[in-house]
Formats: sequence, C-alpha cells, structure tokens
Amino acid sequence: MDRLIFHVDVNSAFLSWESARRVQHGESDLRLVPSAVGGDRDKRTGVILAKSIPAKKYGVSTGEPVSMALRKCPELVIVKPDFRLYARCSQKFLAVCRKYAPVVEQFSIDECFLDMSGTSRIYPDPIAIAHKIKDEIRDKLGFTVNIGIGPNKLLAKMASDFEKPDKVHTLFFDELEEKFYPLPVRDLFSVGRATAKKLESVNVRTIGDLASLDEETLQIIIGGKFAKHLYLVSHGIDDSPVLAEREEAKGYSNSITLEEDVRDREEAEQVLLLLSDSVATRLRADGVRAYCVSVVLRSTDFTDRGRQHRLDSPTDNTNEIFSQVKRLFSELWKEGDPIRLFGVAAFDVTKDDGGQLSIFETPEKEKSRDVDKVVDEIRGRFGVDTIQRGSICHSPIVPGGRHLRHSTKADGKEKKKKGNNKKQ
Ligand SMILES: [Mg+2]
Repeated sequence: MDRLIFHVDVNSAFLSWESARRVQHGESDLRLVPSAVGGDRDKRTGVILAKSIPAKKYGVSTGEPVSMALRKCPELVIVKPDFRLYARCSQKFLAVCRKYAPVVEQFSIDECFLDMSGTSRIYPDPIAIAHKIKDEIRDKLGFTVNIGIGPNKLLAKMASDFEKPDKVHTLFFDELEEKFYPLPVRDLFSVGRATAKKLESVNVRTIGDLASLDEETLQIIIGGKFAKHLYLVSHGIDDSPVLAEREEAKGYSNSITLEEDVRDREEAEQVLLLLSDSVATRLRADGVRAYCVSVVLRSTDFTDRGRQHRLDSPTDNTNEIFSQVKRLFSELWKEGDPIRLFGVAAFDVTKDDGGQLSIFETPEKEKSRDVDKVVDEIRGRFGVDTIQRGSICHSPIVPGGRHLRHSTKADGKEKKKKGNNKKQ
C-alpha cells in the first residue's frame, strides 16, 4: 500500500510561541521586528536559540553568540527562553494534529509526523486536509506551521522545509526531478556540514549529483554504513515507520533540535540542564515523581541513541534528574561527536507521596529539593524567566545569577549500568 506522510513543523518555534503569547496579551508581535530567543542582551552573553525572519535578514543565525548577533543587528530584541511555554504550545499543536491523524509521532518539540496512509476515504484530498490542519493551528493557537506531504518521512520532512512560513508543500516520487534533485546536497536531510564538505570537494553539489553516484563510488568517498544510508536518501527512499509515542514518555519529555551541531561537552551539558529543569519543573507542577530518566541524542546522520536509568526512589528534583542525565549522556556520547538533537524524558511516574523521603535520602538531596521549592515559588510569582539554574547562569545559553551546587552523590557514582532503550 502507498504510504502518505505529513511532516508538521512550527515556523521559528520558540520565537513564534513567545510572540503568540505576547500578542494574546495585547503586546507587539516579535515576528515583525528583528528579534531572537536566547541569552542575555545586556551582558552580551549566551547564544541565539531562534530568530525572527526580519532578524535573519541581518544575518543573525541560530547557535551564534548573542554578542555576534548584536554586532550584526544592534537593535535586535532578545527574549529569554521559556520551556514551560514551549511544552504547552507543543502539546496544543500536537492535539490538533491528533484530531486528524490516526498515528502521530512527535519528532521534536516543534515537529511531528502524521501517518495519513489509508485515510483517502475520509480525506479524499490530502492537500486540502493539510491546509485545514495548518489553518486550524494558526487560527486557534496563533502561530504558523509548514506541512510537508510525501510518500515517506524523509520526503515529507524535506517538503516542509520548502518556502516558509504558513505553507503546504508536496514532494512525491514523480516530483523528485523538479523539486528534490536540484537542491544543494547540504540541504539533504541527515547530511551534516562535514559530509557536505566532503561531497562538495569531489564536485557533488546537488542531491541529483549525489543520486547519480553508484554505491561503490559513494563507499570510496564516504565509507561505511553512512554511504549506504546516503545512497538511499539521495533517491528519496526511506522505510522508517511513523511511531506513535509511548504513553509514559508523552507527558514529561522535552527535546531540542539545534540548527548547529554541538560538539562540546560543556555546551551539551548546558542544553541538558535546561531540558532536565523543564522536565523536573513539570513533574513538580503536576505533583508527580518519576522512576525512570532517559536521554536521547540524535547525530547528524539521523540515528538516535538513547539510554535510560531506573532510580531506586522516584524523583522530581532538578539536580537529581540532571545528574542522571549527565551520566547517561557520558555513556552515550563520544567526545567530539556532533549532536543535533537532545532529548530528556522522565517517565514511570507516581503520585507525589507528600514529601515522604526514601531511606536513600541524603541531606544534599534535601537541600536541593529546597532549592527547587524556592525556584518554583519565585517562578510562580514572577514568571518562569526570573530565575535560572546555576550552571545555566554561567553558560553561554542563559547567563546571570548565582551558582547552585549539584547533588554530588549521583555524580560520583561511576556505576556503569547499560540501559537498553533505543528511542523515547
Ligand atoms: Mg521548526
């Protein structure tokens, strides 16, 4: 049976979500001015996580230091990230998608795949239904998405990346010649900068150039399993199924896809701390604790590596979750490997037992729980942006504030427990 896949991608997600909130409160729309989500404007520290289309015109790019972005565009408006808002918006647009699609896979915080195969009786015109989904998200939620339609995830994802914002595009096999092969090879999904350079150095400049190579030649240029993978994707071939999320991972997971690869441990840990904090904050807000913590990393070749750990007693504590996340990350990651997507999830949750402490409780844990309480209170009163975790404070991502000590107990434990999950 022919498959029919939609890829729904929020246009400049973090910035759109912040803008939509501001517009709802009668404030001005950040999308219309040069603006960005990122570090600290006054201290000129941190990096740009997302930018508006007007900011892009100044050459402001995701992943670059705030100081550099300000040199390119001195009037750039910079707002701090708010992962709780992002999680809410993410859930809302996924909910709209689930109304129409039998199977929905959340791919990152602002992207999902819909498996529309076999829906031709209910929706005879796939383009019309894609427009309906797109318009409903825009009109109800106040932000726009692109929807790519294709015979598989790869081509649907490539299609959603065509002209933005607020557009529906198709990329079927009979359109490859016209819409796919002329694209620069660096635009091919899963081709990172290093691979693109290697290919360009042997004059492979477009996806069409790449598709014209036989597998043996590709083996010589690239080598290994990745050559086989490139051979398939350059022909638009992808058999990977759309996977519905696992129930338990749904509520308390968060991931970020970065436009630039992260290769540096410190930078990676800062991203992981942001994610751990947002997950833990949501656990506490719901009054639940989780037994399992997992980390997933996606590299530029589109492969996911994941690992999970089961705790002796459930937790909702940011530092405890972050300690586990850091350890799992160390087990998964080879120094210098490029990472494109980071995901952190807490699952197997149990209702908070009202503060009853386990026998494994240490004074350090207690202290760190007190810190959570204070942080939550301040955020509750003054907004999520008012306070950031210690290491983030010193990070290029979210600066400012004093350093909070992490629970050292879990850090010191060098127990190598191999998890076995593949993907959350
Ligand atoms: Mg997006």
